[in-house]
Amino acid sequence: MARTPRLFVISGPSGAGKGTLVSLVRERHHDLDLTVSATTRKPREGEIDGVSYHFISEEEFTRRVEAGEFLEWAHVHGHRYGTLKSEVDERMARGHSVILEIDIQGGMNVRKVYPDAVLLFIIPPSAEELERRLRGRGSEREEDIALRLENAKREMAMKDSYDTIIINDSLDVAVGALEAAIDHYETSGGPEEHVSD
Ligand code: 5GP
Repeated sequence: MARTPRLFVISGPSGAGKGTLVSLVRERHHDLDLTVSATTRKPREGEIDGVSYHFISEEEFTRRVEAGEFLEWAHVHGHRYGTLKSEVDERMARGHSVILEIDIQGGMNVRKVYPDAVLLFIIPPSAEELERRLRGRGSEREEDIALRLENAKREMAMKDSYDTIIINDSLDVAVGALEAAIDHYETSGGPEEHVSD
């Protein structure tokens, strides 16, 4: 079936499992490109500059905002994060679908620039499970975990602004649902409700 490359946005609370889901789907879906965002957050153990993020200083971030290099950017968990236009444009020009793993403010801003963008929201099975996953990661300080849990409540309240909601309880089921949603939007038309459980 003919596929139309699409711009996908994936959002959801920190700890919902967006990164894991996206990397599993991309193993099977080779023309689904992930962009590398810029951030002022410091790298975590194991993160690589230019692969995980473009880790840049506050001054550099401001310079790029003023130069109009961002498609969108937002303050998230006390740092600045943004999608560079160049990251999206080059990939779309090659006929690839692009996936942006960004927060809700970013998702809403992308929709303004690309009304055809498909917004996918990943939710954890429960607030308790989200907290367990965030702590299990072991990479955040207690105050960062508290901030991320607080922000999770705000993000969950916005989930209905998204085109599709996927519950990440069983990883296999969630991967299948994400893959099905991507196939659906690439092979058919506009966003429509699609909830997995
Ligand atoms: P983390 O610090 O855990 O890597 O990411 C924190 C949050 O920042 C996540 O919710 C992630 O989706 C969001 N984020 C990452 N890159 C971007 C971006 O380019 N733009 C926006 N608006 N949010 C981003």
